[in-house]
Amino acid sequence: MNCDIAIVGGGLVGASLAVALARSSKQRVILIEAARPPQSAPSWDERCIALNDASRRIFESFGLWDALRAEAEPILATHISERGRFGAARFAAADAGLDALGYNVPLRAIGAVLWQRLGDSGVELLCPARVSAVTAREDGVELQLESASTTPAQTIHARLLAAADGAQSAVRKLLGIGAETRDYAQHAVVSAVRLARPHAGVAYERFLESGPLALIPKSGRSASLVWTLPSAQAEAAMAASDEDYLQRAQDAFGGRLGRFTDLGRRLSYPLARVVADVCTAPRVALLGNASQSLHPVAAQGFNLGLRDVAVLARRLHDAADPGDAAVLAAFTEARGSDRSRVSGFTDLLVRSFSNRVPGLAQSRHWGLVAVDLLPGLREQVLRQHLGHLGGELGVSLETSA
Ligand SMILES: Cc1cc2nc3c(=O)[nH]c(=O)nc-3n(C[C@H](O)[C@H](O)[C@H](O)COP(=O)(O)OP(=O)(O)OC[C@H]3O[C@@H](n4cnc5c(N)ncnc54)[C@H](O)[C@@H]3O)c2cc1C
Repeated sequence: MNCDIAIVGGGLVGASLAVALARSSKQRVILIEAARPPQSAPSWDERCIALNDASRRIFESFGLWDALRAEAEPILATHISERGRFGAARFAAADAGLDALGYNVPLRAIGAVLWQRLGDSGVELLCPARVSAVTAREDGVELQLESASTTPAQTIHARLLAAADGAQSAVRKLLGIGAETRDYAQHAVVSAVRLARPHAGVAYERFLESGPLALIPKSGRSASLVWTLPSAQAEAAMAASDEDYLQRAQDAFGGRLGRFTDLGRRLSYPLARVVADVCTAPRVALLGNASQSLHPVAAQGFNLGLRDVAVLARRLHDAADPGDAAVLAAFTEARGSDRSRVSGFTDLLVRSFSNRVPGLAQSRHWGLVAVDLLPGLREQVLRQHLGHLGGELGVSLETSA
């Protein structure tokens, strides 16, 4: 079976790329996904995800935002603080001349919209099927697929392989591409919670001795609670009764939004940073978590992956040969600084706020005060938060501010 572009992984990143390519290029595209949507979802669950302004604009340019908007709760402001210290950094949409800094959207809604759009896109869907071997040749890549419905294994020849198969990317490993891995020895415990007072569209990030706790607005009086804890504490938090967990979360966050009630199902995620040594190899591009998987503290992982998608789709728009070395070199060049800046910043944030070195708490405190008060620094942090430092994304990032 021959195609121009084989996408491996139909999670949020791979499916977004498939939809983008179906709109913008004439290439024959195949999407290979190990799960069988919609009966079994690739990788989305009950979580919500905070999309920043750049991601909203990218989804708009893919013709998807109108369908997502109804499920998206606007984030009008953010408030970042550390327990026990008075300093805080605050950002409001009005500072940036925007209606919202970003949107909190259920993963299921994004997954459903993407896969529904794929259904009539012309992209050939091979699922459930799993890539088990990859051989790179001069004119393309040969993929072996394992699938319960096709024995013996199917072979696909593609001029470009776009690997969006997640943090443990089989493609990356099969091709021998190295990755730097840091296990944070933390888990994120995620759930929904109901608030006694209105959140007014404000997202809170509160740094605690044990790790950051984020409260991100959902519709009505509810919010997504994302609490990072050392792994042993996270295990205990998962085992606690609802009442006990709510009380602990309440003690950690404080009383600003009144009593927490109606705890949703808790899910726990191990946290590690995995950054591939390179984001391309001959005839191969890595995207999303396959290229860089980050700690969720700054809500950047998918936003960064979607910028990989926007840039690759743009490079492939009129490429005669999608796997040409010049196309891949341009992609590497375009993604380099965004990848290293965002993954480096996220890692620095995790490590500086988990570090109890004497004197560091004071520096963190003044860091937050400086971000709040110094206009130049404030603008840089805000633009990063919005995803506006991501290079040429093919969408306008203009604001009225
Ligand atoms: C607690 C938490 C909160 C987060 N919050 C945010 C947030 O607010 N904002 C944000 O931007 N990001 C956030 N993230 C990060 C975000 O969830 C990820 O960056 C994003 O989901 C990665 O998507 P992906 O498609 O690259 O990878 P995945 O979702 O891992 O998808 C990979 C896909 O590849 C398939 N696959 C794997 N191997 C094979 C194979 N051999 N053959 C075929 N298919 C295969 C899998 O079935 C899967 O569907 C958060 C992460 C966590 C853990």
